[in-house]
Amino acid sequence: MEERLRLHIYTVCGILGREERLRLYIDRVCGSLGMEERLRPYIDIVCKYEDPKAQEAARKTVPVDELEEKALLSLAKEYKLKYGQVGNFEPSKSETDHAFLIQLLYWFKRSFSWVNTNAPPCEGCGGETEYKGHGTPLRAELPYDCSGVEIYRCKRCSMETRFPRYNDPVKLLETRRGRCGEWANCFTFYCRAFGYEARQVVDFTGHVWTECFSVLLGRWMHLDPCERVYDEPLLYEERWNKKLNYAFGIAKDGIYDVTKHYTKEWDEVLKRRNLITETSLSAVLAKLTEECGRITSQVLSAPEDCEKGEAIERDFHAADDASESLPGRQSGDK
Ligand SMILES: [Zn+2]
Repeated sequence: MEERLRLHIYTVCGILGREERLRLYIDRVCGSLGMEERLRPYIDIVCKYEDPKAQEAARKTVPVDELEEKALLSLAKEYKLKYGQVGNFEPSKSETDHAFLIQLLYWFKRSFSWVNTNAPPCEGCGGETEYKGHGTPLRAELPYDCSGVEIYRCKRCSMETRFPRYNDPVKLLETRRGRCGEWANCFTFYCRAFGYEARQVVDFTGHVWTECFSVLLGRWMHLDPCERVYDEPLLYEERWNKKLNYAFGIAKDGIYDVTKHYTKEWDEVLKRRNLITETSLSAVLAKLTEECGRITSQVLSAPEDCEKGEAIERDFHAADDASESLPGRQSGDK
C-alpha cells in the first residue's frame, strides 16, 4: 500500500515538474515511517524484561547454583593457566559476573530448542510434517503477543502441529522453542533478569542476537545464543558472508544503531544503507528512544538511570583476534 502511494505521488510530482525535490521529500517521509514501523514493536517486547515479577519467574527456571559453580571452575582454570596454581585465587565481582554470563549462555543453548525452518516434527507422533500455511492465533495464543502461527501437517498421522510465533518473553520461558527471534528475545530477558545491562540486537539481513555490557571488559559484548558464541562480532560478516546494512540494539533505555560493532567494512555497509537517510535515521532513533523511556517508566515506577557504556563502544573489536576460529552458521533465519 505504502509503495503504491509512493509511486502515485512520484507520478503527480512528475506532472508538476518538481520531481527530484519532491521525490527526496517523499523518500524521507516514507523511509522514516517504514523504519519506525519496523522497530517500534521491539520496544514493547524489551520493556517487558523490566517487570520484577517476570524477572523472578525467569530466574526460577535457571539452575543458578550449578551455573555459579561452573563459572567459578572456569575462572579457576584460567587462573591456573595464567599463574600456574590456584593458591590465592579470589575472583573479583566483575570476573564472576562475566563468567556467570557465559555459563548462562551455554545453559540457554542446552535448554532452548530450535524449530526447524522447514518443518518441525509432528507433536503427536514425531513424524515428518509439511508446511500448510499461516493461521490466525487461537484465543489461547492471543494474550502472548503472538504475531502469527505457522501450521504443519503430519505426513504420517495427518495431525496438525502449530508453531505460534510468541513475542512475549515470559511465555517463551514456558514454550522454550523457536528460531533466532525467540531465542534472542528470551536470552536477552534472562540477561536482564540477572541484572546485566542487555539489548536485543536486530539485524535487518535476517538474524537476531544479544549484547550485554561486561563490566569486566568495560564495553558491550556480543552474545549469540543460537550459535553459543560470545564476543565474536565479526562472525556474521567474515564467516557467514553477510552483507550487513542495519543492526539495532534495543533496550529499555533506547534504540541504538550498533551496526559498526559488526563490521570492519563500514564504507561498504554505508553504501547498502539506503532505506532511509542517515539524518532521518538519527531522528527516528531519537524519537523511539524517547518512547522507550515512557514505556519503561510504565513498567517500572522508578526507572533506573542507565547511560553507561555508550562512550566505550569504540573498543568493541578489542578482542577480535579470535576471528581465526569463527564457526560456520548453526542456525537458520529468524
Ligand atoms: Zn504425526
